[in-house]
Formats: sequence, C-alpha cells, structure tokens
Amino acid sequence: MDPTLNETSNGVRNSWNILPANRIDQSRCVIPVGCLYTPLKEIPGLLTLPYEPVVCKTCRGILNPFARVDYRIKQWSCPLCMDVNMFPPSYSGITEAQHPAELHTGFTTIEYKLNKPNAPAPVFLLLVDTCLPEDEMRFMKDSILQSLNIIPENSLVGLITYGATVQVFELGFKECSKAYVFRGDKETPVEQVQEQLGLKMPSQPQQGQFGRLPNQPIINPAISKFLCPLADCPQLMDIIEELQTDPWPVKSGRRPRRCTGVALSVATSLLESTFKGYGSRILNFIGGPCTFGDGEVVGLELIEQIRLHNELRSGKAPHFKKATEFYKKIAQRLVQNGHVLDIFAANLDQIGVLEMKSCCENTGGTMVLTDTFDNPIFKESYMRFFETGSDEQLKMGLNGSVEIQCSNEIKVCGVLGPVTSMNRKANNVSENIIGEGSTNAWKINAIHPSTTLAFYFDVVNQQNPTNMNTPAIRCFQFVTAYQHPSGEYRLRVTTQSLGCAQPNRFDELAQGFDQEAATALVARLSVFKAETEYLFDVLRWLDKSLIKLVSKFGTYTPNNPDSLILSPQFSVFPQFLYHLRRSQFLRVFNSSPDETAWFRLLLNRETTTNSITMIQPTLYSYSFTESPHPVELDSNSVRPDVILLLDTFFTVLIHYGETVTSWREAGYHHQPQYESFAKLLELPKNDAKLIIKDRFPYPRYIECDQGSGQARFLMAKINPSTTHKDQMYGQNSTVVLTDDAAMQVFLDGLRKLAVQSQ
Ligand SMILES: [Zn+2]
Repeated sequence: MDPTLNETSNGVRNSWNILPANRIDQSRCVIPVGCLYTPLKEIPGLLTLPYEPVVCKTCRGILNPFARVDYRIKQWSCPLCMDVNMFPPSYSGITEAQHPAELHTGFTTIEYKLNKPNAPAPVFLLLVDTCLPEDEMRFMKDSILQSLNIIPENSLVGLITYGATVQVFELGFKECSKAYVFRGDKETPVEQVQEQLGLKMPSQPQQGQFGRLPNQPIINPAISKFLCPLADCPQLMDIIEELQTDPWPVKSGRRPRRCTGVALSVATSLLESTFKGYGSRILNFIGGPCTFGDGEVVGLELIEQIRLHNELRSGKAPHFKKATEFYKKIAQRLVQNGHVLDIFAANLDQIGVLEMKSCCENTGGTMVLTDTFDNPIFKESYMRFFETGSDEQLKMGLNGSVEIQCSNEIKVCGVLGPVTSMNRKANNVSENIIGEGSTNAWKINAIHPSTTLAFYFDVVNQQNPTNMNTPAIRCFQFVTAYQHPSGEYRLRVTTQSLGCAQPNRFDELAQGFDQEAATALVARLSVFKAETEYLFDVLRWLDKSLIKLVSKFGTYTPNNPDSLILSPQFSVFPQFLYHLRRSQFLRVFNSSPDETAWFRLLLNRETTTNSITMIQPTLYSYSFTESPHPVELDSNSVRPDVILLLDTFFTVLIHYGETVTSWREAGYHHQPQYESFAKLLELPKNDAKLIIKDRFPYPRYIECDQGSGQARFLMAKINPSTTHKDQMYGQNSTVVLTDDAAMQVFLDGLRKLAVQSQ
C-alpha cells in the first residue's frame, strides 16, 4: 500500500488507511484516526464539470464513484448515508456504458463549475507601514512596484498607508495624490469609515450586484475611487514611487508612532463596505511593532523591550492580552467578510505577529518574516505570492469553505489548520473536540495549492461490522466551495473509501499505517496542546503515546528489549517523534515569540511531506568516494572530506567539510586538472536550487564552512550522537554540545519501556 498514491490523485494522507473496526479498537490504536487533506492540490488531469453536482437528499453528500447505481431504474444509493436517491431527469439517458464523469472510478476528485454569476476579480489592498528608514522604504517600494507588473491587470487594487495616522488613497484622482486621513490613536467605527469615504450612499451595492464579467468596470464611483482595476490606475505606480517616510517626528530614545492595529481596522472596514463576500486580501507590509493606538504590542519608549517567551510565561507582557483580543476581533470580521490578511514583515526585532497571528491563521492568509525588505526571503516570497498557473490564473482559491460528510460510524472531532469553524451542527460531528470542532464545515478564505488541513475523526460504532465475510467500508467526502481567481465559483469534491480491519486484528491495522501522516497529525496536535499546556506535559504525552504504540504494534518477547522488531510501517516513527520533541515547534527558547508563531503557523498549514522536512530535516552527502545520497541527521555524518546539503524547510544550507574548504580556498576548482572538484562543488548548489525553486516562503539560503559561525545552524539540527558527555568519540566526526539525550539513548529507553510486561 503506497499512501502517496492517494495523495497524488486526491490530496489525502490518512494515518490509518485501514480503519479500526470499532470504538475500542480505535482507542487501542493510540495514534488518532485522521487525515491531512490538501483541498486545492494541483492534480494532473483534474476534470472541471460545467454543471451542478447531484446531491443526496438525506446527507448533502455528492454523487461519486463509490455510489451503487441501478442504471435500470435510474437510482443511486449514497455510500455515505446508504439512502437511495433518484437521478434527476437530466440523467435519464445514462447507462452502464455511458455514465457521467463523476461516477468514473478515476475521478474520486473532481470539480464543478457552479451556475452562479461570476465574482469580481480578486481584490488586493496594499496596507503599507511608512515608519521605515529610508533604505527599507526604498526596498519595500521596489518590490511593490515590481509586483504591479505581475499582478493580473483585471485585479482590483487599493492603497492604505500608516504611521501616526492612517491614509486611504483615492486612486481615481488623476491630478495629484489624494488621501483621506484617519486618526491613529483609536479605532474608527466602520460606519464612520463609510461616511468619511463616501461609501454610505443610497446606491451602495448589495451582494449580487456584481453579476458581470470580471473585466467590466465597477459601476459605483465611490468604490472605484479606492479599489480599481490595476489596468485602470497607472497613477498607482507614481503614488507608490512618491511615498515618503511618516512625517511625525520621532524623539531620540523613542520608537515611531506606528498604528498598525488601527490601520488594519480601517482596511477591514473599507473591504467590508465594498467587497463583503468576495475574495479580497489585505497585504500588510510591516517594518516594526505597533506602538500606537489599538493593537499596540510595545510602548513608545525604546527602554521598554518587546515581550519574550519568559515574560509571556510569567504573565509580565503588559500589552499581550489586550492586543491579542483586539486582533482576534479583526480576525472575526475578516472571516465573516470572506477576506484575508497576509503579513510581510521585515525587522531585526519582533514586530508583534504573535498578537496578530489569528488574522492570518483564521483566514488562511500567509505570513513571511525576515530581517529586511532587501532579503530574498521577502522579495522572492512576495513575487511567488502572485504566481500564476498554465491558465495564467493566480494560484489561489478565495472566500472558500470546506465541508465533510462521512459514514455513520465516523464522526469528525475537528480540524487543525488555517480555518475557522462555521458552527454547523450535523450528525457526523463528534463531542470530542480537537482544534476547530463542533462543526462539519469550516471557513477558509484563502487556499493555496499546498494549504493542508488536518482532520481528526472518531470511530463511534460499539458493535462490530455485521457481515464478517465482506470487509466493512467507510466513506469520507470533502467538499470545498471557493471563488476561483477567474471569478467562477467552483466546487471541489474528493471522496475516499477505506476498509476496516477485523475486530481486534492489529496486524491488519498495521498494514495501513502511514507514519508520515501520523507524524504530521501528532505534530499539529502537540503544537496545539503546547499553546495552552506546559511543555513538560506535552512531552510526557508524546512519550506515553509512543511507548503505547510501540508496545501495541511491535513484535517482542516481554521484558527483552533486544527482541523488539518494528515493521517497516512503524520503523521510522520513533525517530520522527524524537526530532519533533527537540524541534523549534515545541522547544521555543531559542526563538522569539514571533518566530515561534511563524514556525507553528507554517507547520499548521503545510503538506505532509513539507511537515516531515520541518520536523526531521533532510541531509544529503556529496563526496568523491560516493554518489550523492541521504545520510542520517547525525554528527557522524559531518566529515572533513564531505559537502552536506541540509533542508529544514525554513533554511537550505550547504556545509563544506574542513578538507573541502581548504581545497576550495587553494583554488583547485579553477585548475583544469581538478575539474572533478569543480563539479563536486556545483552538485549540491544545483540540488539546493531545485529545493528552493518551488518553496513558499522562500527559504534562508546559507553556504558555510565547517567550524564557522553559520555552521551552528547545521549543528543545532543534528542528533548529538557524539557529545561532550561521551567519553569516546570518533576522530573524524564532530562533537555536538547539547544536553539533549542522543537519539540512541532515547530509542534504547523506548525499547525498554515498550517491552515491559503490563
Ligand atoms: Zn447520503
């Protein structure tokens, strides 16, 4: 069973591809029954049907290849609720030989183009911090100007800048740059924003007025003053070119007055008053912390430092709670309006994305953190944000929702990912809540091709499947409704069907275990717990779960640790959890709270494969003696005559061993007789380029020599198999200074505990 096949064709990875037969067996499985689902995964040959789906009258499930069809009397039985439905009249001509595409076994994932008037083109509202040093201002403006050349020109754009006050720019005003100013010290109510901008006119558009082609101009002049098609406002280039640093004087020893929170509120109100219910994104370029007005994360005096983990833990972060509450309220408005916040932040210090996180996380927005707007992490990521596919459409779904239906024996506990619960009560909703729970539908206002949601399920039947001769089948259906960037409304439907093991047959269950999906599900769950529980408790929970799992699924003689054997389905899982325990997602004290928020936000939305790279980075070795190959994330892999390529998802690093460094410094690679050395130097660089090519956000790229300061990034990630605590260590390997248990010690401990007789 290759779980990646299901991922390629459906975007689904299950922790258990064969399900426990009943509730008791599930509880003994230890690892949650769940899946990682990538709603808008790019699937080769994906079919978009030009008609509406056929819906089950009982459960809202959609006709799919697992339905049993009686072509004679034109009936289908729903594999989710088992009820029988008649086909609609338009299907009267179907036969076994001529059936509609949605019944074809090859289309377990399929799209429908819904019969609804098109939405307007996507809206991009630029929200620009102007409290920046001259050079940062220049870098940021350069990137924004560059982006105006690649944003599809029917997109609607708008501009708001902020410092001590908020300026909403009138783009339709051709003569000179004109802006409406709002106070920065206090939030302006939405009605007042509408009034001041003249949006509260009798002809204010209602939803549905946009039943027009995306290229048609907007009729309401008040709206087009602030948000207009990029093609129609060439003056936007000039306005951005002429943007100046905020004029409010900054006294020495103080921070500039930066009203990020209030400005975000104005931006939210502008979109709420104009494009409520249509895909719109606020792109917030932030160069420092909010110091002024609602949402303030640090005071104006430089002597006051922005909160660190210690202050947060001991409750000594005076602005944290109030600011977080403020941004949560904004997040709720964004979610309801179908809108998104994307953060592009650049500063050496923290800027308060921890407090603002809900505005991204609950809407599906992206976040990019770096030190300067000149860094490729910002520049390249920002350009990739507007990446288009072969159809020249932006690679994003907007204003979406995801709904799940499943067989009666399965209930859904919740989702961990960039979504918000829609509080939809349904029969398949479990009382056990995980993450965004108590619902079978979630709002997700921005969906990228890699956006991945973690679903957690409950097997609820107490009884065993009735007929023991035919294996029981459970069906799951994911229905994602979204606004395609072309303006079309689309529905993506993925249906999967999983078999159940016989009761109490853990050998059967083991066959279907996907250790990578299981790790990703457990990782999101542990991060979710770590937000509210002590790290010690989270680590203990992880350890206990791992011991129970190995004890249940390993083969061994009781009390004999050396006899333990794990089948290939489980063999790497302990190692994954070892790395998860040490990762920056749980051990936060080497990162700032902003960085932790960012790392966790990305873990909480990435694909299974990317999550595994984040948890257990990949390490490749290049040398003269062997062809490039993956090596253990272990200090024994660091050798003088070897080049290493490390990928942690956030950082891609090339590490030259001492000998390689000395050859390179001697310039051997420039001499014709050492051409092979020149080639060796190129290999890892080319592979690094391949990794970086498709990654979002663009990773930090480092080339470093053994023993140099930057080599610490590698040392921090590798397993300390040879530490200062060991008495002996290999002469060719590197010593790692750390107090963490080495992996072998960890695994030995696990063996001992797992084989203990109960
Ligand atoms: Zn049904």
